[in-house]
Amino acid sequence: MKDIATLKAEQEKYTTLWPDYCRICGGSGAVVCEDSVDYGSTTTTMQTLDNCPACVDEGKCPRCGKNLQEDGDLKCEWCGWNELSDPAPMVEEPLDDYALDIMRWALAMNLKIRIL
Ligand SMILES: [Zn+2]
Ligand SMILES: [Zn+2]
Repeated sequence: MKDIATLKAEQEKYTTLWPDYCRICGGSGAVVCEDSVDYGSTTTTMQTLDNCPACVDEGKCPRCGKNLQEDGDLKCEWCGWNELSDPAPMVEEPLDDYALDIMRWALAMNLKIRIL
């Protein structure tokens, strides 16, 4: 378990390298969706990984924000991102204005996503 100072330093490095990375998915290209599944009398909430609606679903790279290639595997020829690339290190801290804007937008679009 890394301490918060190490994480913050790593996050700063990532943010400096990729200032336009997607704040919704943290540059991972995937978000956790919560789906209610009906089993007759009971309902269970299932967590599934989905393509991020703010970047990958829009055809944009989660890391550099440029257009992704459309053929088959998700990858970015601009920055070399692919689905196995490390996402931005996450630090629990108050969201900045940019992240809040995105969250409002996501709510407005009625997306059931959770910030990873
Ligand atoms: Zn994203
Ligand atoms: Zn990229």
